[in-house]
Amino acid sequence: MTVPSITAFEPLPKDEAIRIFWPTPNRSLFDAPEKYYARTRANPNYGRPGWTRDCGRRFHRACDIAPVAPKQTGRTTTVIFSDCAKNIEYPSVEPTFTCDDEISAVYDGVVSEFNTDVSASPLGLHIILEHRWPTLRNIFFTLYAHLSSIEISGGSVRGGQRIGRMGQTSRSADAKNWMSIAPHLHFEVLDENHGPFDPEVFLRTFLLH
Ligand SMILES: [Zn+2]
Repeated sequence: MTVPSITAFEPLPKDEAIRIFWPTPNRSLFDAPEKYYARTRANPNYGRPGWTRDCGRRFHRACDIAPVAPKQTGRTTTVIFSDCAKNIEYPSVEPTFTCDDEISAVYDGVVSEFNTDVSASPLGLHIILEHRWPTLRNIFFTLYAHLSSIEISGGSVRGGQRIGRMGQTSRSADAKNWMSIAPHLHFEVLDENHGPFDPEVFLRTFLLH
């Protein structure tokens, strides 16, 4: 089957001298991109931004960044995989993992919002930072979701500053089940109207590396 092309991301500003920091210790984006994204056995594209879920029907605006050293729990869970070519779904028993990577602010900014109530959001514990493009001066946001802990309480943050730890939190039991087999940081980059930029393009364009 053909995966539809990504059309819903906003174009990134082109004239920026901004330099950003890695959001997690995973630094494989340029050298080994297959290790950068969370993946499942049946869907190696699981964590990529774009049309990657539900056989391309669900637009995923984030990068789901994999932990550098996920720990096997020794337990398993059952997930429902889709065989998109055959248009069928089937259950599969998969090993589960935990994660504990540090999460860092990618750029100087201020805390726009943070949620410490797991049951309040499908994004679980999450942080939204507000930033300003250095020359355009209009704002943009970065979002860090499914955290296990939040280590800021408001105010300003510096690029590279630790703000929390990677986790597997969500109000959705189904999302938690998927995160147990493919732990990750759900990382979004949003324009001033909360329209999504392609987070992979943002990282590839502006990272210090
Ligand atoms: Zn995600």
